[in-house]
Amino acid sequence: MDGDLAPLPELSRLAQAYEADLYVDDAHGTGVMGPRGQGTAEHFGLEASIPFQMGTLGKAFGSSGAYLAGSSTVIQYLMNSSRSFIFTTAPPPGSAAAATAALRIVQREPERRARLWANRERLFTGLTGLGFTLSSTVSPILPILVGNADRALSFAEHLFREGIYAPAIRPPTVPDATSRIRVTVTSEHQPCQIDQALAAFQRAGQSAGLI
Ligand SMILES: *Cc1c(COP(=O)(O)O)cnc(C)c1O
Repeated sequence: MDGDLAPLPELSRLAQAYEADLYVDDAHGTGVMGPRGQGTAEHFGLEASIPFQMGTLGKAFGSSGAYLAGSSTVIQYLMNSSRSFIFTTAPPPGSAAAATAALRIVQREPERRARLWANRERLFTGLTGLGFTLSSTVSPILPILVGNADRALSFAEHLFREGIYAPAIRPPTVPDATSRIRVTVTSEHQPCQIDQALAAFQRAGQSAGLI
């Protein structure tokens, strides 16, 4: 919800000190974080010390399903004991093929990731420059803090009239008084589209009394 990163180096040190296994759910990091898009573990240089890495194939990969990477013993154990996995039909071949193709794109087309981060910078700098308050985000997820739930709703309505679909996120999804509009960019947004969004945010933010 905040676009922040878990303090993985500290968590990893604690897990080692207490002989615990660390399990990373990297749904938002897969394909995005790290020089090669391998995720948050790669971002922190911790690939070798995280025993379980899970990610979804439904976000950056644009397909559906998920993966868990770990030792073969644990993977065998889970395949034979996970209640929701046993007797469930395997993912359709089309989804598996789409995810495989996406994996190749993540590996072979790093320029897409570079564009994603450049777009993220453009939107982030633009929004903060307009005077919006953003969470302490370090990812392409940019939450614009509004506070009051009704105000967040009216801000979202203003944005929608400006052609920007960005639903308000309110309690109980986020704590009281931290209602927000959460947006993200993709590698395929053009700079002019981001500028168009910024102009819409400026008008909507002024109408909603946020800036
Ligand atoms: C989206 C998300 C999931 C769920 O992924 P699906 O593939 O949609 O089931 C799990 N964990 C986190 C942190 C997510 O953001």
